[in-house]
Amino acid sequence: MSVADCILTGGRVWKGKGLGFAEAVAIADGKVLAVGSDAEITALAGPKTERIALDGRLATPGLYDAHMHLHMYGLAMAEVDLRPQVVETLEQLLDAVRAKAAVTPKGEWITGRGYDNFKLDVGRHPFREELDMACPDHPVYVVRTDGHLGVANSLALEMAGITEDTPSPEGGLIERKNGRLTGLLAETGRQQLTDIMPKADVPQLVEAIERAGKVLLSHGITSCMEAAIGIQGGWPEMEAYLEANRTGRLPLRVYGTIMGDKTQSILDQATAAGMITGTGDEMFRHGPVKIFTDGSASGRTAAMTWAYKGGDPDDKGILCIPDQAELSAMVLAAHRAGYQMAIHAIGDAAIDEVLNAYEAALKDTPAPDRRHRIEHCGWLRPDQLQRMIDMHVLPVPQPSFMYWFGELYCAVAELDKVEGSHPYRDWINAGLEPSASTDCPVTEIDPRPVLYNLITRKTAKGLVLGEAQRLSVEEALHAYTYASAYGSHEEEVKGRLIPGQLGDVAVWDRDLFTIDPAEILQANCDLAILGGRIAHERAGQGVRDKADA
Ligand SMILES: [Zn+2]
Repeated sequence: MSVADCILTGGRVWKGKGLGFAEAVAIADGKVLAVGSDAEITALAGPKTERIALDGRLATPGLYDAHMHLHMYGLAMAEVDLRPQVVETLEQLLDAVRAKAAVTPKGEWITGRGYDNFKLDVGRHPFREELDMACPDHPVYVVRTDGHLGVANSLALEMAGITEDTPSPEGGLIERKNGRLTGLLAETGRQQLTDIMPKADVPQLVEAIERAGKVLLSHGITSCMEAAIGIQGGWPEMEAYLEANRTGRLPLRVYGTIMGDKTQSILDQATAAGMITGTGDEMFRHGPVKIFTDGSASGRTAAMTWAYKGGDPDDKGILCIPDQAELSAMVLAAHRAGYQMAIHAIGDAAIDEVLNAYEAALKDTPAPDRRHRIEHCGWLRPDQLQRMIDMHVLPVPQPSFMYWFGELYCAVAELDKVEGSHPYRDWINAGLEPSASTDCPVTEIDPRPVLYNLITRKTAKGLVLGEAQRLSVEEALHAYTYASAYGSHEEEVKGRLIPGQLGDVAVWDRDLFTIDPAEILQANCDLAILGGRIAHERAGQGVRDKADA
């Protein structure tokens, strides 16, 4: 046997669901060499081996966030932070924008992210005129927490050429009250504005990728699915990932989703470059094709077959591509070319449309193990679950939505619908390998609320929604490791600590299996190891004393 590059000994090494625990693990050439007793693993060490004392701590496979937006997160880190934990009132929101304007040259854009109209003291979106008063000399655009709605000030609207006479485009909204623009733009209604906003260039994008990737590592996340390359800046976003990987500035492994939407697409360029799903390498692998079919439930833009609570009878959300034939044709073309699909569909009406498109494509060109995905897939009906089983379509839901937005869901839908949403237990029983993710920056990248919600189905405020869908700790960690890898056809490559799999490990400061679930929210990742190399170490907590030679 070869000599280990790195050994972790004296702890509890969780190997994967149903595989139990070992005391120690050895990594060589980037891959797990062996798992076993301290004596067995120590015997594989040589003079140059990095020895890490687990000191009784839990080690798991590195986590894999199955749906998030890496470069957007990195860019958002440089924007005005308007999240509810930072900004509780409209006045604070305006103050934050004003403060940024004070240090920004006149005429330059000010962008903010993460406000939640339901959680603001006024319980509504800011109005254009309020942003004008705070910031008359800068174009301003603030984006709601779900990323699907935003409010612009008058200067920004003027620069975009949006006037009182500009009609709302198909699949979107340019909001007016009494004939006047409110500044609120939703879905495709944002396009005219976002088109004229300055785009980050490749060096800025590489910086954003690196900045965000390091944060993911600090949470024990060693892989992520980047859910929309090309969404804002087109092809340069792909160039940035390639550049980051080439220059060693990609901090973690990325499964890169290719935008192939009606209005935002880099699919032709990706296809010409041979970036079919599964190509690439172990750091940056080309992923599925992304299409959006609706918005968000808490923003009342997810497309439902039923009307939202407290609205008009036709208040059922927005289908981004209302023409089934059009969506089906887009899916068929990508499916025939060999791509996996990853279509954003939250409401059951959108899910219907996506399932119809998948069914037609799979009938045309059978591909039983293509594993087409439905991103979010929150509000499906039982009859849709059966169709997912029949086609082996994978759900890619976000337990963090339930954790952060559970109460908001209760405001937009009847309780039985909320409790039956995100049905993890049903998906597991159906063999659909539901993964775990955050959709960051829509919610925090922090994996702890995700694990906590999977295990308890509790919101941040402690409300239990759908007790019947709770998972065990092992099932929750399985979702965050193996199942996420399954969603990218990489379950034989990573997600478990068994010989031959990638040497990606997270070390925790407490045993997630034995602590009270509430304590999971306080757990820390002490060490993240990527391919046998220490990629993150929590200050003073990571390596600890060297293991005995
Ligand atoms: Zn997303």
